[in-house]
Amino acid sequence: MGGRTRAFSLKTIYLAALTVAFAVSCFAFALFDIHSQREQTQAALLEEARTFAREMDAVWKFMDNSQTIINTTSNGVYEFKGLHCAVVGKSVGALFSAGSDYAIRYTNFNPRNEQGIPDEFEAQALETFYADPSVTEHYGTALFEGEERFRYIRALEVDESCLECHGDPQGEVDVTGYQKEGWELGGVGGAISIVIPIDQHQQALRDNVVRDIAFFLLITVVIGSIVYVATAFFVLRPLRGLQGAFGEMRAGRLGASLDEARTAKEVDVLISGFNDMAGELHDMYGHLESQVQARTSDLRKANELLEGQRDKLERLNAELAQEARFKSDLLSMVNHELRTPLTSIITFAQISRESCGPDRESDRRSWEEIEKNSLILLNMINDMLDIARSDAGTVHASREPMDLGDVVASVRSTMAPLARKYAVTFRTSVASDVPLVFGDFEKTTRMLENLASNAVKFTPDGGSAELRVAYDAQARTVTLSLVDTGIGIAPQDQERIFERFVQVDSTSTRKYNGSGLGLALVREYADVQGFEVSVESELGCGSTFTITVPEEAIVGEDDV
Ligand code: ADP
Repeated sequence: MGGRTRAFSLKTIYLAALTVAFAVSCFAFALFDIHSQREQTQAALLEEARTFAREMDAVWKFMDNSQTIINTTSNGVYEFKGLHCAVVGKSVGALFSAGSDYAIRYTNFNPRNEQGIPDEFEAQALETFYADPSVTEHYGTALFEGEERFRYIRALEVDESCLECHGDPQGEVDVTGYQKEGWELGGVGGAISIVIPIDQHQQALRDNVVRDIAFFLLITVVIGSIVYVATAFFVLRPLRGLQGAFGEMRAGRLGASLDEARTAKEVDVLISGFNDMAGELHDMYGHLESQVQARTSDLRKANELLEGQRDKLERLNAELAQEARFKSDLLSMVNHELRTPLTSIITFAQISRESCGPDRESDRRSWEEIEKNSLILLNMINDMLDIARSDAGTVHASREPMDLGDVVASVRSTMAPLARKYAVTFRTSVASDVPLVFGDFEKTTRMLENLASNAVKFTPDGGSAELRVAYDAQARTVTLSLVDTGIGIAPQDQERIFERFVQVDSTSTRKYNGSGLGLALVREYADVQGFEVSVESELGCGSTFTITVPEEAIVGEDDV
């Protein structure tokens, strides 16, 4: 509906609505007018007929009252002249009717002459009067002698004057020579029938209706035109103005303003609303433009700033690259300049210690001290180098089948001097069913060395540490556990000790020298090989560090 309405202009809709309203109101008015005109005509005809009837009654009455005068001769002798009231009434009616479209006559069911025989309309009226004495009139438009006329029938009541000729005794011959009918006083003695032509009335009715409708049309057209002109001027014209102004705005010409003069109040509100909106838009747009300019200049500045930052970052990057080069130079320097001589010192101290006889106990202890400290130093240097490598992203683990028995043997020989020095019994055990596993020999050895050196380091004199390798056939995993009877680790520290540079407390650092990097490396090496590291410990009772080698890393029969 909405879509269809939009296809028409307001003007067309308005004109169509006015036309429909005119047509409907004209039709309704015509119906109403015809009906009321008909009623008026009928009322006028009825009144005319009643007047005729009353005139005829007067003639009748006059003749009745004048009977004695008419029928008495000048010398006082009664001589019936034949001018009986009924005869005179009928004659006057006939004379009146002759030569005109009017007709006045008397009728009943049993008339004394055949002119009084009732026609269909009269018979119907007489039947009604006889059946119901309270009904005395019957009228309407009906045919008379083949033409449509207004017909009026009124009942005639039997009075004293009628009885002389029509009363008792029935069958007696009256003064006019007819037999009496035996009517009774107050009964229905027939009816007077009046016929009035209606052509003129109908013509007048048509003329009236046409005139009324023409007048009504004129009024409605005048009112409609005034309403249309007023609406066109006060509503349609400003609306078209608004339409044009919106078009201007759409074309980018903001600030368009409309003339508020000569409009209706509501339209005036609309126009001033539009003018306000246009003004605000104009201001806003101007503001926006200045804002855009400000933002553009902000952006330009931000861009310049960014370029400056980029230059800075590039410089920083170049510096970092240089630093990285320095770092890698330092690493290779540490590698060559520290590790190589340290390894020689350890070997030399070992040989010297072994060559000391029982008589040179104090020399042997000195060599032992040198060997231990060199080992600790070497271990720290190794940890730092490994961490540096890991940071540089150069840590890659190889995946080769390895015999954990070999790894354990290597760890045992490295740990022996340390364990001896700390007076801790260090044992190793490898279950016979332990299979070969895939992994990096070097890194696994380093992991176990770190765990073992911690176990020895944090176990008081006389305690023990054990490296156990077992196979869980059900879970198909290999576990490498370092069990010690040392100082233990509090539950809240058990996770954080795997972070870099974390040592449980500073006193222990001083007592047990170290860098805080060992366990961090263990976890990193475990991760790169797909192993898992966990710890179980009780303060004062000892700790168990476990590396779990998963099923995927176990060398199966197919791999061999
Ligand atoms: P470092 O041994 O060089 O101090 P680690 O990373 O190897 O560094 O160990 C971190 C800390 O974890 C140690 O300082 C120590 O407090 C605690 N720790 C490690 N292993 C043990 C252990 N077997 N028994 C008790 N404490 C331990």
